[in-house]
Amino acid sequence: MTDLSTLKVPGPTEIALTQPFWDAAAEGRLVIPHCRACDQPFFYPREICPHCWADAWDWRQASGQGRLKSFSMVWKPGHPGWAPAAPYAVGLVALAEGPVMLSHILSPAPVVGMVLTLAPTDIGGRVLPAFRPA
Ligand SMILES: [Zn+2]
Repeated sequence: MTDLSTLKVPGPTEIALTQPFWDAAAEGRLVIPHCRACDQPFFYPREICPHCWADAWDWRQASGQGRLKSFSMVWKPGHPGWAPAAPYAVGLVALAEGPVMLSHILSPAPVVGMVLTLAPTDIGGRVLPAFRPA
């Protein structure tokens, strides 16, 4: 498997709303929004809760456990910087808390339904949340 830390790839777009997510990711932690009004987690981060539209929510630590809901093997990356890593897997991870997030899957042969665990990974010089088979 390619050493992802050496890739020359663009990083994620950071805005004030998502800064806590990326800060936690850099520390190897996964945090997701949790609504104070309806007590439900959600992902992706957004101004209002998608369940009840309340604008009061906090970041909470996620367990880092989940299952692979779907995936795609990327053979022709959309950015040339990813070419040395191809083929690689990108998948939808159903987090144990409920929300689904898109992430890099550290497995050469992913299987839908497989149990995954958070694997903070240096990708292009910054630690980002990825998942590997548990
Ligand atoms: Zn809510």
